[in-house]
Amino acid sequence: MSIPESQWAQVAEQVGGPLVYKQIPVPKPGPDQILVKIRYTGVCHTDLHAMMGHWPLPVKMPLVGGHEGAGVVVAKGELVQDFEIGDHAGLKWLNGSCGECEFCRQSDDPLCANAALSGYTVDGTFQQYAVGKATHASKIPKNVPLDAVAPVLCAGITVYKGLKESGIRPGQTVAIVGAGGGLGSLAQQYAKAMGLRVVCIDGGDEKRVMCEQLGSEAYVDFTKSKDLVADVKAATPNGLGAHAVILLAVSEKPFQQATEYVRSRGTIIAIGLPPDASLKAPVFQTVVRMISIKGSYVGNRQDGVEALDFFARGLIKAPFKVAPLKDLPKIFELMEKGQITGRYVLEMPE
Ligand code: NAD
Ligand code: ZN
Repeated sequence: MSIPESQWAQVAEQVGGPLVYKQIPVPKPGPDQILVKIRYTGVCHTDLHAMMGHWPLPVKMPLVGGHEGAGVVVAKGELVQDFEIGDHAGLKWLNGSCGECEFCRQSDDPLCANAALSGYTVDGTFQQYAVGKATHASKIPKNVPLDAVAPVLCAGITVYKGLKESGIRPGQTVAIVGAGGGLGSLAQQYAKAMGLRVVCIDGGDEKRVMCEQLGSEAYVDFTKSKDLVADVKAATPNGLGAHAVILLAVSEKPFQQATEYVRSRGTIIAIGLPPDASLKAPVFQTVVRMISIKGSYVGNRQDGVEALDFFARGLIKAPFKVAPLKDLPKIFELMEKGQITGRYVLEMPE
């Protein structure tokens, strides 16, 4: 397989952008890394947060973003044993971790202080060829379509992990906030596959239609509802509220509101990362209604294997749109305005 010296990439030269579509060198895999010829890569809201410098974590600049990359292994370092040239592989947010700290030892590799993050602390998948540590890359069976599976590599794994962290059980009701977006559409599918009942919260009719098509029981439109808390509770069994709330929205308000419609004994899982936001909860209600509030951050390698397995078994079908790599700036514009229903997946130039 011939590997070129240079390739097309979307590069953010500085915090705040803009993106420059240009030729850059093809990276070389280190001893424990694979080089993946990316075919498709999803666009996560995290990629926009990264370019805009929204978070209190320094971001590499210039930066090639992207962390939902699916493609073909075209080269590997001499220590790599689990991948052969020609295998299909996925590069995720966790590009690598130290493997030796207390968190890595306990399979909490996302918590590793020295983790390498694709499209954040190291270059990611908005380029034709990207590298990642082999032990953190995902194996993708050859019969799995690389466009549809790309969003699973971050969005799917993250929401699957969040649902598990909530402790919710089959037959119970989950409220998904930001259900019409990339993570939200996949969260609905994982929830259904796990035997859960789903109530969606998002804005606008395009997202309503998608949520209904994905089989959710109710859709509460935060842009139209006069009493969102009452509407969400009314959509849950006996009006008692949701057993779990999965917060995926990119605005602060739902993070303050969720305690009002979570069921007593229920769990709120914070996953969305709106800039400069705080979680607030009334102490009295939290105590006497025994509410749990937790954060959840991507997933470990086993969560990745499980989330991909749900997909490979045909249980996860979330809508996505395909666009060429050069269109990334347009996609970021739509994302900024909250106008993307489901996920965008970028196709690489040949
Ligand atoms: P997205 O833009 O596709 O979706 C966000 C959705 O939230 C949109 O549909 C929007 O309409 C909706 N929304 C905005 N305000 C709302 C409100 N008040 N109530 C209900 N819905 C509202 O984004 P995405 O790619 O799905 O990512 C969502 C968030 O999750 C981002 O902040 C991203 O950085 C974060 N994220 C976290 C992790 C993690 O490990 N914790 C992993 C991936 C992404
Ligand atoms: Zn992501």
